[in-house]
Amino acid sequence: MAKVVPVCSSSKGNSVFVGDSTSGVLVDAGCSFKALREGLALCGIPFEAVKAVLVTHEHIDHTKALGQITKRTSVPVYASDGTARKLFSDKLVEQTAVIHPLSEIKSVPVDMDIDFFHTPHDAAESVGYTLKFGEHKVACCTDLGYVTDEVRDNLLGSDTVYIEANYDPVLLKGNPKYPPYLKTRISGDHGHLSNGCSAEFCKELVAKGASRLILGHLSQENNSPKMAYEAVEKTLKTAGMSCGVDFTLDVAPVVTQGKYIII
Ligand SMILES: [Zn+2]
Ligand SMILES: [Zn+2]
Repeated sequence: MAKVVPVCSSSKGNSVFVGDSTSGVLVDAGCSFKALREGLALCGIPFEAVKAVLVTHEHIDHTKALGQITKRTSVPVYASDGTARKLFSDKLVEQTAVIHPLSEIKSVPVDMDIDFFHTPHDAAESVGYTLKFGEHKVACCTDLGYVTDEVRDNLLGSDTVYIEANYDPVLLKGNPKYPPYLKTRISGDHGHLSNGCSAEFCKELVAKGASRLILGHLSQENNSPKMAYEAVEKTLKTAGMSCGVDFTLDVAPVVTQGKYIII
């Protein structure tokens, strides 16, 4: 039985496992290696089940455990060329680490057809991933300023979508702790998806057959699980789509407490 296991999900750390208790892939590794192993174990996934780590981009909230993973395990790590260059130049992995290019993505040792697509984000060469196995197509897509045609083309047709709902625009605008340049960066075309943008895209995805939506990468400062959930639920309800009937809706926790989504 396959699961989607959000191990951690926020602006501070992101990592989601897709697979079963014997085999699967980890998209990003944005917490400590110890937290990653413990989080997976809490969800019934031994670290040995991780057959590859697919990196979306170099930001630390996606790569914190990569140094340890490349040093202490033989799990292959995959990243775009631009991301790989930044992993080395920012010393996020040792110079001797092996990072596999995405041109080799079809050789990931799992029974999945894995693909990637580019995302608009303030990183060297950020990507998202789709994973096809059995009758499933699972998409993992966070850290994007807006939904490009490339993102849309790759995500449509997924039954399960792990999608960013980063911020509520009113909370972001009024946050006294965030300087104007940071607000501009977050809400810009190379920043993050707001709850509203995520909701609109979720509406399209469900109309095209998606039945499981998982909201992730929520800002702890400028969002709340309730706000993200309600934004998406309301938009889809207005479009005549009923939560629990036409689709399921989950919000990934900041740090896993052992919950996962069975697909
Ligand atoms: Zn990022
Ligand atoms: Zn991020």
